[in-house]
Amino acid sequence: MSRVVVVGGGAAGLLAAGRAAERGAAECGAAERGADVLLLEKTPRLGNKLRISGKGRGNITTTDSLTDFVAAFGPAGRFLYGACTRFFRDDLLALLQELGIDTVTERGGRVFPSSQHAPDIAEALVDYARRGGVQVRTRCPVERVLVQDGCVAGVQTADGPEPAGAVVVAVGGASYPGTGSTGDGVALARAAGHTVVPLRPALVPLETAGDEARQLQGLSLRHVRATALRVTAAGVATPIASEFGEMLFTHFGVSGPIILTMSRAVGDALRAGDTVVLSINLKPALTPDQLDRRLQRDLAALGRRAYHNILSGLLPRKLIDVFIARTGIPADRVGHQITAQQRADVCRELMDFRLRVTRPRPLAEAIVTAGGVALDEVDPRTLMSRRVPGLFFAGEVLDLDGPTGGYNLQAAFSTGYVAGQAAAEYVL
Ligand SMILES: Cc1cc2nc3c(=O)[nH]c(=O)nc-3n(C[C@H](O)[C@H](O)[C@H](O)COP(=O)(O)OP(=O)(O)OC[C@H]3O[C@@H](n4cnc5c(N)ncnc54)[C@H](O)[C@@H]3O)c2cc1C
Repeated sequence: MSRVVVVGGGAAGLLAAGRAAERGAAECGAAERGADVLLLEKTPRLGNKLRISGKGRGNITTTDSLTDFVAAFGPAGRFLYGACTRFFRDDLLALLQELGIDTVTERGGRVFPSSQHAPDIAEALVDYARRGGVQVRTRCPVERVLVQDGCVAGVQTADGPEPAGAVVVAVGGASYPGTGSTGDGVALARAAGHTVVPLRPALVPLETAGDEARQLQGLSLRHVRATALRVTAAGVATPIASEFGEMLFTHFGVSGPIILTMSRAVGDALRAGDTVVLSINLKPALTPDQLDRRLQRDLAALGRRAYHNILSGLLPRKLIDVFIARTGIPADRVGHQITAQQRADVCRELMDFRLRVTRPRPLAEAIVTAGGVALDEVDPRTLMSRRVPGLFFAGEVLDLDGPTGGYNLQAAFSTGYVAGQAAAEYVL
């Protein structure tokens, strides 16, 4: 049966379908018929999540080296060497250029389409699939992978069975379910005999205790260091993650790039029953001594000014009332009435502004899903299941999640492309 069925028309599925069709045709020559490729998508439209990625601008990849790219995924990232040595950023950019998409690189090595319009990428990849002759069926949820005599035999859809010699499952994770990614990969993979690492949010905002975050809502802090601390009942704090950069207060807690990056480690610690505290260093460029000297100078120079006014040289305006309440120093106390102990309290709050994290926001709000199909049951060079010959997995359905910055889309593109190629080779 020389037919490949691709399940899911996101970043990974579009690349898988397009490449399977292209590879199938190349293998068989123009005169012969190549692999038939059928792409089945649950929603009415292809590439929904891709269209909203990067705030609609589509941060499609990164300029990181392959080694740094793989390292950004943590220990699981080693799995990506298999796909990324076969299809990585330069191959992606060459393919996109062939499809009429130019790109620009921005701060932090983030690569976007020059049009700054993510839907252009989705449309180009739909063209890639269609020009290879991929048959596309939307509004067609796949319910099960059909396995016969231990090998893939096709898929079961709501409208009936679709036979196939190879099936690529590229149904994504379970975040932003409005895009169609509703966690169907868990049932599809388990029913085919695969282990699925429990799904949980990664790259997700965090909720914090108390009312302060709500008071600070809308405040964005740049150039700060946030450290997540696991705190024992005896008060012993151990750092579990630490990031420098930008964060944001929201009505429920904290968000922004450095918070999202730390969120998986924080979520895992909370799920293990630990208390997690976020310690924000508002002056990370200074040592405690340097900060103390700076405060002494300010208090001496501005000795007749009120504490409230002195703080305006040190903190964003929105933070001042919360800060005054924390230090307990009256707002109208003048600089030279502030004691050495009070100065030490100010220093401590500036370098260790703490918020207790209560929980991550739900999986539905996560930029990416952690967990998924266990990697040791998939061949990293072909993305084929080690359990069911002819079954392939690509994209976020796998137990892989990277940081923000184009890593997750590149992983979806790389695994999708390689799975599509291997699926075509398997059936021909
Ligand atoms: C708001 C947001 C912004 C993001 N921005 C970026 C960014 O700028 N850069 C970056 O690298 N990453 C970004 N990501 C992450 C990235 O978009 C995803 O990791 C990537 O799209 C995953 O691709 P995928 O093909 O594996 O899954 P998806 O894109 O989720 O596609 C899966 C497809 O499968 C379909 N499907 C599901 N179940 C079935 C079924 N049973 N039968 C048939 N079809 C099914 C779904 O409808 C969907 O179309 C962002 C994510 C979000 C939510």
